[in-house]
Amino acid sequence: MTEKLYENNVLLKNCSCTVLACQEKEGRYLVELDRTVFFPEGGGQLSDRGTLGGVSVEYVYEADGRIFHVCGQPLPAGSTVEAALDWQVRLDRMQQHLGEHLLSYACWKLFGANNVGFHMSEDLVAIDLDKELTAEELLQAELLTNEIIWDNRPVTINYLDSEEAAKLPMRKFNSKLKGLLRIVAVEGADCCTCCGTHPPYTGMVGLVKVIRSDKHKQGIRVEFACGRRALLDADSKNSVLLQTAAELSVKPVQVYDGVMRLKEDMAQLRETVKNKTLQLLRQELQQAAGQALRKTDGTPIIKMVTDDSKHIKPLLTLAGGYTDSLSVIFAVQRERLAYAVAAGHDLQADCRVYIKVLNEVFNGRGGGKVDCTQGGADFCADWQERLQQALQAMQKLQ
Ligand SMILES: [Zn+2]
Repeated sequence: MTEKLYENNVLLKNCSCTVLACQEKEGRYLVELDRTVFFPEGGGQLSDRGTLGGVSVEYVYEADGRIFHVCGQPLPAGSTVEAALDWQVRLDRMQQHLGEHLLSYACWKLFGANNVGFHMSEDLVAIDLDKELTAEELLQAELLTNEIIWDNRPVTINYLDSEEAAKLPMRKFNSKLKGLLRIVAVEGADCCTCCGTHPPYTGMVGLVKVIRSDKHKQGIRVEFACGRRALLDADSKNSVLLQTAAELSVKPVQVYDGVMRLKEDMAQLRETVKNKTLQLLRQELQQAAGQALRKTDGTPIIKMVTDDSKHIKPLLTLAGGYTDSLSVIFAVQRERLAYAVAAGHDLQADCRVYIKVLNEVFNGRGGGKVDCTQGGADFCADWQERLQQALQAMQKLQ
């Protein structure tokens, strides 16, 4: 049985201990000690990390009442080693964990919203509430949480029999729990059963910042950050905000308006470019129509070459204006060729016959309806010669 030093003194960063056993498992070594400062993963709180006799402790877990320290190297049973916590990791765990207690308390106290789920990983902390709160209500809960932190109230651990514990004003209590229970109480605020590590004073949490909330089941999921994480989160967002504000030449608080203005400008520009492109394509098609080839029966074949397959659709619409002609539209892009054949509605032509010629000449694929077909092929350097060849074949079609 390992003595859990973290249960009575969460500020203990080191201890001298004896290795009781060390077993190899899947290339790692599971070390058991007579006593430990390492909190094993549990109750939603992540495991501590650190070193044992200089050997890295990657993960700690409890199973069947035994605490296993997962190490990269073996430690001889019977040896005395120094256990040292990675304090930054432990402090982070405690800040997120007690921050979660306090934010849950504030949501419950102010609005009757219960914490029904807790999620904690290296880069996310979130609680699930069983009712929806507005953004304004969440801000109020955030403020109360931080006021309790700034009060620097004591956090006490007591062991009470379940019947005694049930009489306390607890935020949540599982009446099925029996025997001696570990009660964590924040003076004048949260009180609940918990096995995790908590700072002795709320001030150590530093800050709780709600980051976002999203609808989740009947309530919401609230993502937040505490302590150092909250600071780093604010730092990175502030940096992005300042850079963006500088790019927009506005104050940070004006960034949203600045982006909205840019979006409007962009939409107007897109519209202008679209209209100008259409105008240009119309002129080019007109020019191409003036130089149309002729089939043996006299039907004009308009050849239109462009450098963007996005032009094909508007060109097909414009080609509809040439009711007695066949239009062959060809888009040449770096890796891909795209083409279309359209027949004016005064013609009796079947465009599928014409696209077949293009497919054969370019080893491409394509098809469509009688009056309009589209296809494409891989780029080839001799596309001009091949197109010429295809057009000559089309001229001869009956
Ligand atoms: Zn706790």
